[in-house]
Amino acid sequence: MPFSLLPTRVYSSIDQLEPDALQAAGVRLILSDLDNTISPYSVAEPPETVFAWKRALEAHQITLFILSNNRSPTRIRRYCEKLGVPFIDHAGKPKTASFFRAMEQMDCTEKETIMLGDQIFTDVLGGNRAGIPVYLVKPIRIRDNPFRALRHGLEQPFILAARLRQAYQMRRKSTQ
Ligand SMILES: [Mg+2]
Repeated sequence: MPFSLLPTRVYSSIDQLEPDALQAAGVRLILSDLDNTISPYSVAEPPETVFAWKRALEAHQITLFILSNNRSPTRIRRYCEKLGVPFIDHAGKPKTASFFRAMEQMDCTEKETIMLGDQIFTDVLGGNRAGIPVYLVKPIRIRDNPFRALRHGLEQPFILAARLRQAYQMRRKSTQ
């Protein structure tokens, strides 16, 4: 199991993901964090924009599957049932068991799956250990919680390193 804190790609939000490009790359399953990746903690039900995003993924034969460490007995269930997507809450990321359980449930391999999240020490580390690409987005809202803001500060070197690597790879691609 590789130990790495670097995401494969860095985006500012989920809106930047292109379903057609993902489909072309063979992605059939997105394992995604919920809190601060898709919606802030305070949003109890999916807004229309998230429904539209999920429909766009489905139109490209990509399943959205929520993998959340949230321990609330109702938060994840309520949100995901409303959105109509499979989920695992209390997922224990960065442990890999829930990643493999989700892929098995959806009958997808590591090559057909990506992880999407906003945190280095859970989403990125877990996805890397599970052997799947990890797309990191900027947390939607962290200012309302000093602990989250502090943790985000600790994540910055890894985000910067991933951004530099991404820029280097894009430059290489464009000069080839
Ligand atoms: Mg999160």
